[in-house]
Amino acid sequence: MSQLQQISVLGATGSIGLSTLDVIARHPERYQVFALSGFSRLLELENLCLRFHPRFAVVPTAAVAIELQGALQAGGLTTRVLVGEAGLCEVAAHPEVNAVMAAIVGAAGLKPTLAAVEAGKKVLLANKEALVMSGALFMQAVRKSGAVLLPIDSEHNAIFQCLPGDYGRGLSQVGVRRILLTASGGPFRQTPLEQLQAVTPEQACAHPNWSMGRKISVDSASMMNKGLELIEACWLFDAKPAQIEVLIHPQSVIHSLVDYVDGSVLAQLGNPDMRTPISHALAWPERIDSGVAPLDLFAIARLDFQAPDEARFPCLRLARDAADAGGSAPALLNAANEVAVQAFLQRRIRFPEIASVIAEVLNLVPTIAVESLDGVLQADAQARQLAEQWLLRHGR
Ligand code: NAD
Ligand code: MG
Repeated sequence: MSQLQQISVLGATGSIGLSTLDVIARHPERYQVFALSGFSRLLELENLCLRFHPRFAVVPTAAVAIELQGALQAGGLTTRVLVGEAGLCEVAAHPEVNAVMAAIVGAAGLKPTLAAVEAGKKVLLANKEALVMSGALFMQAVRKSGAVLLPIDSEHNAIFQCLPGDYGRGLSQVGVRRILLTASGGPFRQTPLEQLQAVTPEQACAHPNWSMGRKISVDSASMMNKGLELIEACWLFDAKPAQIEVLIHPQSVIHSLVDYVDGSVLAQLGNPDMRTPISHALAWPERIDSGVAPLDLFAIARLDFQAPDEARFPCLRLARDAADAGGSAPALLNAANEVAVQAFLQRRIRFPEIASVIAEVLNLVPTIAVESLDGVLQADAQARQLAEQWLLRHGR
């Protein structure tokens, strides 16, 4: 490669952001950090700036920006500190940027991720909520700008690797019968159902195989993560919800599979470490070292599979229904889930009530077609308001 690739890392202080920087640091001859963003843990952001010397840093408020700008100047850096969503969109779409790691969690990542897409960047998509909320518009923007969209979610990255290069012709055209989306089942896969009433945020965040941010950890415990991923897969691979089957695979070694009409089933395997999909997407179509240990199948010895139990994981059914309904339903589902997960993390609701909040919001709001970003944001705001009303009504 002749030139250094300039990378903006949105959500640099998070789990995916830090794994991305770990991979980048292994390949200084290929990648240079162009911009880093953080929302909390700002001391961590300052340290990352001192280590990677980005052209830009992005923080949530002007007051924080002044503080960080001063600290970086004192450290001899020329990094410019930008503020808020406008700053994020600027570093996502900057003409000198080659690739954007979209690793902000939740709806907050929507506009910056779309800005990267509209600017025709190579977009490494971890922020699944952005695609879930705005699927049709998002994919339309990808086609219009010619952006290269590469999935970071380990399952979708696996599916991408198991599909032929021309899968964009249509799954049936390339002989795909169905996609098998694997799920670990999370920390509560075997917890007696009556005990789910009393589980704590700490227990929900103690994922057996993956170390992740708190929001996605709770989503994994409720399997809403798999529901969001089902919707994500429909958009990424132009699949119908019925073409995607979820299967629980507790070891998280197979990251997903593609089942072809001739009976061949292709899978991608690896240790559960996000640096593998991150490296794959960063270097695609080449391969680079990720720092991940080689897979030791003798140590793993066995791989298990089971069907998900919808009584245990009602969020999975809610997400599949939203996927079938289309239109504004996935944006409503996502926003209600974000409010409910936050309330659970704040100990305001019990774990099974996450599904109750989402179900009520989806029951109250009829699904409508969404034709604009405003439509998506309206659905998002409406769902948040109704979810907050649920909390108020139940005295939380
Ligand atoms: P995290 O909580 O560890 O990090 C989130 C990042 O987003 C942080 O840098 C934080 O400062 C920033 N952020 C939070 N709120 C923000 C806001 N309002 N505005 C701007 N920035 C904000 O989360 P994570 O585990 O790294 O996950 C990031 C995304 O990647 C999520 O969408 C998640 O679903 C997806 N993902 C994560 C993993 C994983 O293994 N962690 C795997 C697959 C997909
Ligand atoms: Mg995943």
